[in-house]
Amino acid sequence: MTRGVSAVARSPLSEEVKAELSRLALKVCDARVLAALLPRAGHLGVPARRLAHVAEGAVAGPLLRRACCRRTYLRGLFLAGGSLSTGRSGNLLEIRPPPGETARARAVLAREGLLVHERVRRGCIVLTLRNADEIAGFLRAVGATETLLRFETKRVSREVRARTNALVNADSANLARTVAAAHAQVQAVRAIAERSGLRGLPEPLAAVARARLRSPAASLSELAVRLGTTKWVVRGRLRSILEVARA
Ligand SMILES: [Zn+2]
Repeated sequence: MTRGVSAVARSPLSEEVKAELSRLALKVCDARVLAALLPRAGHLGVPARRLAHVAEGAVAGPLLRRACCRRTYLRGLFLAGGSLSTGRSGNLLEIRPPPGETARARAVLAREGLLVHERVRRGCIVLTLRNADEIAGFLRAVGATETLLRFETKRVSREVRARTNALVNADSANLARTVAAAHAQVQAVRAIAERSGLRGLPEPLAAVARARLRSPAASLSELAVRLGTTKWVVRGRLRSILEVARA
Protein backbone atom coordinates (compact mmCIF):
# COMPACT_ATOMS: atom_id res chain seq x y z
CA MET A 1 0.00 0.00 0.00
CA THR A 2 1.39 3.38 -0.95
CA ARG A 3 0.54 6.07 1.51
CA GLY A 4 1.61 9.66 1.14
CA VAL A 5 4.12 8.99 -1.59
CA SER A 6 2.14 9.78 -4.70
CA ALA A 7 3.78 11.79 -7.47
CA VAL A 8 2.12 14.90 -6.08
CA ALA A 9 3.56 14.24 -2.64
CA ARG A 10 7.06 14.04 -4.10
CA SER A 11 6.76 17.41 -5.80
CA PRO A 12 9.50 19.81 -4.66
CA LEU A 13 7.06 22.21 -3.00
CA SER A 14 5.79 19.48 -0.66
CA GLU A 15 9.32 18.65 0.44
CA GLU A 16 10.01 22.33 0.86
CA VAL A 17 7.02 22.82 3.17
CA LYS A 18 7.94 19.73 5.20
CA ALA A 19 11.56 20.78 5.53
CA GLU A 20 10.49 24.23 6.67
CA LEU A 21 7.91 22.89 9.12
CA SER A 22 10.32 20.48 10.74
CA ARG A 23 12.83 23.29 11.28
CA LEU A 24 10.40 25.32 13.40
CA ALA A 25 11.04 25.29 17.13
CA LEU A 26 8.66 23.29 19.33
CA LYS A 27 7.18 24.38 22.62
CA VAL A 28 6.56 21.70 25.23
CA CYS A 29 2.81 21.83 24.58
CA ASP A 30 3.38 21.55 20.84
CA ALA A 31 5.69 18.57 21.21
CA ARG A 32 2.83 16.82 22.98
CA VAL A 33 0.59 17.36 19.98
CA LEU A 34 3.11 15.91 17.58
CA ALA A 35 3.84 12.99 19.89
CA ALA A 36 0.16 12.12 19.76
CA LEU A 37 -0.18 12.58 16.04
CA LEU A 38 2.96 11.57 14.17
CA PRO A 39 3.46 7.99 15.41
CA ARG A 40 0.04 7.15 13.99
CA ALA A 41 0.91 8.29 10.48
CA GLY A 42 1.37 5.46 8.02
CA HIS A 43 4.34 6.98 6.32
CA LEU A 44 6.70 9.68 7.46
CA GLY A 45 9.31 11.37 5.32
CA VAL A 46 12.74 12.20 6.69
CA PRO A 47 11.94 15.68 8.08
CA ALA A 48 8.82 14.43 9.86
CA ARG A 49 10.68 11.40 11.26
CA ARG A 50 13.28 13.71 12.76
CA LEU A 51 10.54 15.81 14.36
CA ALA A 52 8.70 12.74 15.61
CA HIS A 53 11.95 11.67 17.27
CA VAL A 54 12.26 15.06 18.99
CA ALA A 55 8.67 14.84 20.20
CA GLU A 56 9.02 11.21 21.31
CA GLY A 57 9.54 11.81 25.02
CA ALA A 58 6.54 14.10 25.38
CA VAL A 59 3.47 12.75 27.08
CA ALA A 60 0.31 13.11 25.01
CA GLY A 61 -1.74 15.22 27.41
CA PRO A 62 -4.78 17.41 26.73
CA LEU A 63 -4.62 18.40 23.11
CA LEU A 64 -5.39 21.54 21.17
CA ARG A 65 -6.42 23.74 24.04
CA ARG A 66 -4.23 26.58 22.84
CA ALA A 67 -3.99 28.26 19.46
CA CYS A 68 -0.29 27.37 19.20
CA CYS A 69 -1.14 23.69 19.66
CA ARG A 70 -3.86 23.80 17.02
CA ARG A 71 -1.39 25.23 14.56
CA THR A 72 1.17 22.63 15.53
CA TYR A 73 -1.51 20.01 14.97
CA LEU A 74 -1.93 21.30 11.41
CA ARG A 75 1.85 21.16 10.99
CA GLY A 76 1.75 17.58 12.15
CA LEU A 77 -1.04 16.74 9.74
CA PHE A 78 0.97 18.05 6.84
CA LEU A 79 4.15 16.30 7.96
CA ALA A 80 2.27 13.06 8.47
CA GLY A 81 0.64 13.03 5.06
CA GLY A 82 0.44 16.30 3.25
CA SER A 83 1.34 17.43 -0.21
CA LEU A 84 1.24 20.66 -2.11
CA SER A 85 1.47 21.11 -5.83
CA THR A 86 1.13 24.23 -7.90
CA GLY A 87 1.06 24.51 -11.62
CA ARG A 88 -0.67 25.87 -14.65
CA SER A 89 -3.61 23.55 -14.03
CA GLY A 90 -4.15 24.98 -10.56
CA ASN A 91 -3.14 24.46 -6.97
CA LEU A 92 -3.75 21.44 -4.80
CA LEU A 93 -3.05 20.95 -1.15
CA GLU A 94 -3.84 17.49 0.15
CA ILE A 95 -3.88 16.14 3.66
CA ARG A 96 -4.25 12.46 4.44
CA PRO A 97 -4.98 12.36 8.18
CA PRO A 98 -3.76 9.38 10.23
CA PRO A 99 -6.46 6.81 10.97
CA GLY A 100 -9.21 8.13 13.23
CA GLU A 101 -8.05 11.68 12.90
CA THR A 102 -10.26 12.94 10.05
CA ALA A 103 -13.04 14.58 12.09
CA ARG A 104 -10.61 16.47 14.32
CA ALA A 105 -8.49 17.47 11.32
CA ARG A 106 -11.53 18.87 9.58
CA ALA A 107 -12.63 20.74 12.72
CA VAL A 108 -9.22 22.30 13.37
CA LEU A 109 -8.93 23.33 9.73
CA ALA A 110 -12.42 24.88 9.88
CA ARG A 111 -11.37 26.85 12.96
CA GLU A 112 -8.65 28.40 10.83
CA GLY A 113 -11.29 29.32 8.27
CA LEU A 114 -10.23 26.54 5.89
CA LEU A 115 -13.13 24.54 4.48
CA VAL A 116 -11.66 21.39 3.02
CA HIS A 117 -13.21 19.09 0.48
CA GLU A 118 -13.16 15.46 1.31
CA ARG A 119 -12.73 12.46 -0.94
CA VAL A 120 -11.71 8.86 -0.67
CA ARG A 121 -8.71 7.53 -2.53
CA ARG A 122 -7.78 3.86 -2.29
CA GLY A 123 -9.82 3.55 0.88
CA CYS A 124 -8.14 6.51 2.56
CA ILE A 125 -9.76 9.85 3.28
CA VAL A 126 -8.07 12.78 1.61
CA LEU A 127 -8.80 16.38 2.58
CA THR A 128 -8.13 18.89 -0.18
CA LEU A 129 -7.84 22.63 -0.65
CA ARG A 130 -7.67 24.10 -4.16
CA ASN A 131 -8.41 27.74 -3.57
CA ALA A 132 -5.15 29.73 -3.65
CA ASP A 133 -6.30 32.03 -0.84
CA GLU A 134 -7.06 29.06 1.39
CA ILE A 135 -3.78 27.34 0.58
CA ALA A 136 -2.00 30.57 1.45
CA GLY A 137 -4.05 30.66 4.66
CA PHE A 138 -2.93 27.14 5.53
CA LEU A 139 0.74 27.94 4.91
CA ARG A 140 0.40 31.04 7.06
CA ALA A 141 -1.36 29.12 9.83
CA VAL A 142 1.31 26.42 10.02
CA GLY A 143 4.12 28.96 9.93
CA ALA A 144 5.59 27.96 6.55
CA THR A 145 6.34 31.58 5.76
CA GLU A 146 9.19 30.94 3.31
CA THR A 147 7.05 28.62 1.24
CA LEU A 148 4.15 31.03 1.54
CA LEU A 149 6.30 33.75 0.03
CA ARG A 150 7.34 31.50 -2.85
CA PHE A 151 3.75 30.39 -3.35
CA GLU A 152 2.45 33.97 -3.46
CA THR A 153 5.23 35.09 -5.80
CA LYS A 154 4.40 32.28 -8.22
CA ARG A 155 0.74 33.07 -7.97
CA VAL A 156 1.21 36.78 -8.64
CA SER A 157 3.47 36.19 -11.63
CA ARG A 158 0.95 33.69 -13.04
CA GLU A 159 -1.84 36.24 -12.66
CA VAL A 160 0.23 39.01 -14.23
CA ARG A 161 1.08 36.71 -17.13
CA ALA A 162 -2.58 35.83 -17.63
CA ARG A 163 -3.59 39.48 -17.57
CA THR A 164 -0.81 40.38 -20.02
CA ASN A 165 -1.95 37.65 -22.40
CA ALA A 166 -5.51 38.93 -22.20
CA LEU A 167 -4.32 42.44 -23.02
CA VAL A 168 -2.18 41.24 -25.92
CA ASN A 169 -5.15 39.30 -27.29
CA ALA A 170 -7.43 42.31 -26.90
CA ASP A 171 -4.84 44.46 -28.69
CA SER A 172 -4.58 42.08 -31.61
CA ALA A 173 -8.38 41.84 -31.81
CA ASN A 174 -8.51 45.65 -31.97
CA LEU A 175 -5.83 45.68 -34.61
CA ALA A 176 -7.71 43.11 -36.71
CA ARG A 177 -10.87 45.23 -36.46
CA THR A 178 -8.97 48.37 -37.47
CA VAL A 179 -7.38 46.66 -40.47
CA ALA A 180 -10.75 45.24 -41.60
CA ALA A 181 -12.41 48.65 -41.24
CA ALA A 182 -9.64 50.40 -43.23
CA HIS A 183 -9.93 47.75 -45.95
CA ALA A 184 -13.70 48.33 -46.23
CA GLN A 185 -13.12 52.11 -46.45
CA VAL A 186 -10.58 51.72 -49.28
CA GLN A 187 -13.01 49.46 -51.16
CA ALA A 188 -15.79 52.03 -50.72
CA VAL A 189 -13.61 54.90 -52.00
CA ARG A 190 -12.59 52.80 -55.04
CA ALA A 191 -16.20 51.92 -55.76
CA ILE A 192 -17.23 55.59 -55.67
CA ALA A 193 -14.24 56.62 -57.81
CA GLU A 194 -15.09 54.02 -60.46
CA ARG A 195 -18.78 54.84 -60.44
CA SER A 196 -18.86 58.64 -60.43
CA GLY A 197 -15.44 59.92 -59.53
CA LEU A 198 -14.45 61.47 -56.20
CA ARG A 199 -15.27 64.95 -57.55
CA GLY A 200 -18.94 64.14 -57.13
CA LEU A 201 -18.42 64.06 -53.36
CA PRO A 202 -18.64 67.15 -51.13
CA GLU A 203 -15.08 68.42 -50.70
CA PRO A 204 -14.70 67.43 -47.00
CA LEU A 205 -15.63 63.82 -47.88
CA ALA A 206 -13.45 63.84 -51.00
CA ALA A 207 -10.47 64.98 -48.92
CA VAL A 208 -10.91 62.14 -46.47
CA ALA A 209 -11.40 59.69 -49.35
CA ARG A 210 -8.17 60.76 -51.01
CA ALA A 211 -6.30 60.59 -47.70
CA ARG A 212 -7.57 57.07 -47.12
CA LEU A 213 -6.53 55.95 -50.62
CA ARG A 214 -3.07 57.40 -50.11
CA SER A 215 -2.66 55.75 -46.69
CA PRO A 216 -4.70 52.54 -46.55
CA ALA A 217 -3.09 51.45 -43.26
CA ALA A 218 -3.19 54.78 -41.41
CA SER A 219 -5.20 55.01 -38.21
CA LEU A 220 -8.06 57.48 -37.87
CA SER A 221 -5.88 59.67 -35.65
CA GLU A 222 -3.13 59.72 -38.28
CA LEU A 223 -5.61 60.67 -41.00
CA ALA A 224 -7.01 63.37 -38.72
CA VAL A 225 -3.56 64.89 -38.19
CA ARG A 226 -2.93 64.93 -41.95
CA LEU A 227 -6.29 66.59 -42.61
CA GLY A 228 -5.99 69.07 -39.76
CA THR A 229 -9.15 67.84 -38.04
CA THR A 230 -10.20 65.42 -35.29
CA LYS A 231 -10.42 61.65 -35.24
CA TRP A 232 -14.18 61.91 -34.66
CA VAL A 233 -14.72 64.05 -37.74
CA VAL A 234 -12.67 61.60 -39.83
CA ARG A 235 -14.67 58.68 -38.47
CA GLY A 236 -17.97 60.40 -39.33
CA ARG A 237 -16.83 61.27 -42.85
CA LEU A 238 -15.57 57.73 -43.52
CA ARG A 239 -18.96 56.46 -42.38
CA SER A 240 -20.64 58.81 -44.86
CA ILE A 241 -18.33 57.53 -47.62
CA LEU A 242 -19.36 53.95 -46.83
CA GLU A 243 -23.02 55.00 -47.08
CA VAL A 244 -22.48 56.75 -50.43
CA ALA A 245 -20.74 53.63 -51.76
CA ARG A 246 -23.62 51.44 -50.59
CA ALA A 247 -26.30 53.73 -52.03
ZN1 LIG B 1 1.04 24.77 22.06
